[in-house]
Amino acid sequence: MKRSEVVRQLRALGVRPGGVLLVHTSFRAIRPIDGGPLGLIAALREALGPAGTLAMPSWTGDDEAPFDPRTTPATEDLGATADLFWRQPGVVRSDHLQAFAAIGPGAEAVVKTLLPLPPHTRESPVGRVHDLDGQVLLLGVGHDADTSLHLAELMAHVPYGVARHCTVMQDGKPTRIDYSENDHCCRRFALADDWLRAEGLQAEGPVGHGMARLFRAQDVVRLALERLHRDPFVFLHGRGEGCADCDLARAGRPAGLIQSPG
Ligand SMILES: [Zn+2]
Repeated sequence: MKRSEVVRQLRALGVRPGGVLLVHTSFRAIRPIDGGPLGLIAALREALGPAGTLAMPSWTGDDEAPFDPRTTPATEDLGATADLFWRQPGVVRSDHLQAFAAIGPGAEAVVKTLLPLPPHTRESPVGRVHDLDGQVLLLGVGHDADTSLHLAELMAHVPYGVARHCTVMQDGKPTRIDYSENDHCCRRFALADDWLRAEGLQAEGPVGHGMARLFRAQDVVRLALERLHRDPFVFLHGRGEGCADCDLARAGRPAGLIQSPG
């Protein structure tokens, strides 16, 4: 598919020129597009225009090696587009292992945060996208990839989490930090489709050869907070449903720092 057609699709979906746009994508689900993943990135930037800011997740899955924003790859789970994006000229990347990458006038404001642990706090890049009234585009992926829902979980102080650690340089030495993260299978994040659709707040349509969802980060967070305040476990499978990831999260301590060095 030609890039100009992808730009047309993005505008028809409702991508706001001049806005902040956080994209989670599986290129495999929407290909072929002329120019491959770089062609997709060019189409996203064209749809946003010169005043717009494009952001993508860019974190590492390596919890043992200290992070270097110039060399550490984005974890494979994020897909080829995300790992190409941070390497492009003019793209700004967070200095920490829970990195996001962005380009455009708001790039620094989105990605230059302190290391957030757990990863998706209000002070993290995804929190910044929320506070800047950014849009979220799920491109060939569902809400299970929607980090704004992890932000909502933290804002609601959900009572679950799983043990994680990471390694940072401190006083010139690799130093381990332990924390609990509000992670689980994330399949019940698909509930957000119903919540957004019921209020007409999610645009859906083709982008490339796949399906896309577009909504405001503040809308999905607000709707999730309403449900989480009624039932803090709304995103977890129930006990006895046979989901090992959700059972592990129930058994763990609430998301937060466990042990910080020094
Ligand atoms: Zn589950």
